This record gives sequence, structure tokens and C-alpha cells, in this order.
Amino acid sequence: MIYVQCFLPMILYNTLTKRKETFEPIQKGKVGMYACGPTVYDYIHIGNLRAYVFSDTVRRALEHEGYEVRLIRNITDVGHMTDDDIAQGDTGEDKMEKKARAEHKSPADIAAFYEDYFHGAETDMNLLPAHFYPRATAHVTQMIRMIETLIAGDHAYEKNGNVFFDVTSFAGYGHLSGNTLEQLKVGARLEEHPDKRNPWDFALWLKAPKEHTMHWPSPWGEGYPGWHIECSAMSLEYLGDSFDIHTGGEDNIFPHHEAEIAQSECATGKPFVRYWLHNRHLLVDGEKMSKSKGNFYTLEDIVEKGYSPTDLRMLFLSAHYRSQMNFTWDGLAQAKKNRETLASLADRLEDAGASTGPDIAAEPREKFLAAMEDDLNTPLALSILLEFSTAANTALDRKDAFDAKSAVAFLKEAFGLFGLKREKESAPPEVRKLAALRESARLDKDFEAADELRDQILAAGWTVEDTAQGPKLKKK
Ligand code: AMP
Ligand code: ZN
Repeated sequence: MIYVQCFLPMILYNTLTKRKETFEPIQKGKVGMYACGPTVYDYIHIGNLRAYVFSDTVRRALEHEGYEVRLIRNITDVGHMTDDDIAQGDTGEDKMEKKARAEHKSPADIAAFYEDYFHGAETDMNLLPAHFYPRATAHVTQMIRMIETLIAGDHAYEKNGNVFFDVTSFAGYGHLSGNTLEQLKVGARLEEHPDKRNPWDFALWLKAPKEHTMHWPSPWGEGYPGWHIECSAMSLEYLGDSFDIHTGGEDNIFPHHEAEIAQSECATGKPFVRYWLHNRHLLVDGEKMSKSKGNFYTLEDIVEKGYSPTDLRMLFLSAHYRSQMNFTWDGLAQAKKNRETLASLADRLEDAGASTGPDIAAEPREKFLAAMEDDLNTPLALSILLEFSTAANTALDRKDAFDAKSAVAFLKEAFGLFGLKREKESAPPEVRKLAALRESARLDKDFEAADELRDQILAAGWTVEDTAQGPKLKKK
């Protein structure tokens, strides 16, 4: 049976409106999407990967629904400050400059190295490549232009070579995060900045200190752009004044995305983004996994312990993106088991070849897609898939007649939506054939033949283990 794509409406939770909404793009059939990318001063950790897997899942789901998605994932190689979690994120030191100094390298060399690493991790995690990866340092002209527009419109001002956005000039400030100026006034007290009119104003342009190697000429002197203006300028360049979806981790909501909205809407006079989607954090021992806390794991740590990037992806799918997820090795072990269960079912179905009969995949598939369409409920979709796997294995064990082609098609579709690779550690076809023959001998209670086949499997370098989900092959 060939499946036709169903165009069921996609429901997404919008951080801006704080409710689930039916997704409707600006332009029929097309989606413009911007995902905040890495700051390339260090290895990305698996918390960052949760954010990238999330945006990849959004994109895969929309493409599955038939949309043509244009995804922009930026590379931040200047302007992201060490104190990004303090107030407006414009104090401290530039992360790239700091690292370059520590390693006696140029910021460009640091950026090239960690950007390469990032792309390698993207491939390992089976993230679909973005359509473009704009680097901040290559778009300073566009940023300067945008800042000039903001100054001309009285939304920004210059003082001593720094340029600040005037938060009081934008009535919508605080809508995304809830940090309206009223709220901020009663909340944390900020140290007065000598050049800011209002302590909550944020930097669009910073005067470069003498030791700064990255600096550009501007109408306000030699300097460098603030982190927030980068994403506004680059999204405008590649997706236009208004676009459909912007993603990021929950820490991006404030100040980064709040600032992006203010800058973009004041510069263009148009609504910026329709749907703001944020994944919650990956935690370790109840705390956000982060580079600055040093409590992070990289993909190498995962692989070293015998897990694959696909196992990690499977782990991420087991929690809803809007729930925090505590990283544990036990959780990863369970994810690996789930991945193996699905892979072994795929092998068994392929080996079983064509068979006809009732379509046992039809109902689970419908439920699976409904879960994905409901704000990407991946844990529910995964549990439906695992239930289906149990049912299909039972049918195979019992030699029940069923539509194997449809079952294979459903598995493939689910793997595609989940972005799961079929890992090549699975046994070669001749060994799988021996295992299938052994299973059939075993079920016929011909134990002599079954033992003989087990020996042949062993001789080929594999062991066979009988589990509730059917026989499992493992490399010796
Ligand atoms: P950064 O390189 O710090 O700019 O982060 C890149 C992306 O990873 C951003 O979208 C962050 O919100 C996201 N991120 C950072 N830490 C975590 C975490 N522990 N869990 C999930 N997402 C994260
Ligand atoms: Zn950004």
C-alpha cells in the first residue's frame, strides 16, 4: 500500500501567545524558519543538541505535512558575551575573544574549528542541513544598516561609541517573556550603566576595547555588534521582514528573543515572527547543562560509553520538548534498547518479505501522526510505535498473515519523522536468514536443528539471544 501524505493541521505551542495554535504559514505551502545556532567558541554539548534536534523535528514534521521549509541556522562568531545570563546579555567579555586569547589563536581560527565540529555533530545526529548558515561576522554591514534605521526612528541612541536600543520606545516590549518594563522595575535591580538612559536598554553596537581583535568601522567608531542584533539582521536578510517560525532553547526567550522582536519590529514596522517555539532545557542533576557550569557531556562522551548519536536522539524523543529533561545514563540505556527494538523489527519485517493480510499498521500510524501533529508529542508517538512493534513481533512469531509492506512503510515513515538512522551494526542478511531459520525451527520445537543453526550463527561472528521481542542478534 502506498501512503498519500495527509495534510492534517499542525498544532504548535506559541510562546508569544502562550497557547497551542493551528499552524498557518504566511505563504501557502511554504515555511520560513530561523533557529538560533551555536556560538562557536567551544564544543557544543548534548544540551545544545536537544535544541537542534527539536528544530530538526519541527522541520521534519512540517515537511512530512507537505510544506516546503527554508531553514536558516546562524553561526554566532562575535558579540555573544560571557555574561549572557545577566540582565540584557551585553556585559562581560566577548566569548570568542576570550577563548582566542586563552588559546593564542585568532577568533577566526577558533570559529572555524568549532563550526566544523558543530557540522560534524549535525551529521552524526542526522540533522537535516539548514539551507544556509549565515555567520555574524559576514553580516556586519546589514547590522549597521539596521542600527542606523533604529537610530533614525528614535528607537536607539549612541553614547561614547556604544549604541543602545531604547526599550521604552517599543510598546510590545516584554510580550514574549512576560518581562515588561513594569515587571522589570519591580524585579531584579540592575547596576546603572553610565551610557544607558534606562538600565534595561540593551547594546546594539559596542565600542571595541583596544585589545579586541574583532572590530569594524561604523558611524559610531570602531566596534562590534551586540548578539541580539545579529539574529534580527540575518533573519531579515534570508527570510524577509516577517516569517513563520523562530526556535531556540528556553534561555533564549529573554533577553535574546525579546530583543530580536523589539529591534526587528521597530526597524521594519512589520510583525516579525508568527510562531515562537522553545525547547526546555536538558538538565544534569536538576541543573541546566551548560558550558559555563562545566556540567556538560559532549557527543564523544556518549559514544565512549558505547551509545550512538541515534540513541541520544531516541532519548530526546522520549520527553516532550516543552518538558525539562534530566539526563541520566539509565535513560540513555533505555533509549538504546528502544532503538534496538525498532531496528530489529525493521530487520525482521524485511526478512519476512512480502506477505498480505490485514493492515496492522493503519491504526497505529494514524495515532502516531495525530500525536506528532499535536505540538510534536514525541513521547506519545514513540510509545505508539513501540506498542506497534510488540504487536508486529507477535504477529511474526505466530506467523500471522498481515500486510508486511504497509508495516515496513510505517516504520520507515516514523524513522524519517523522528530522524532516526538505521544503524549499520545490524547483522548481515545471511546471518539474519540463519536467525530466522533458527527461530522457525525453535517454534517448531526442532531443537536439534535450532542448535545447529545457532552454531552456524556463532561461526559467522554473531550471538543470538531470545527476548520477548523476538530473537536479537549481537556481534560476538
Ligand atoms: P549557545 O551556543 O549557548 O548560543 O546555545 C545554542 C542553543 O542551545 C540555544 O538555542 C540554547 O537555547 C540551546 N541550549 C543551551 N543549553 C541548553 C540545554 N541545557 N538544554 C537545551 N537547550 C540548550
Ligand atoms: Zn539568535
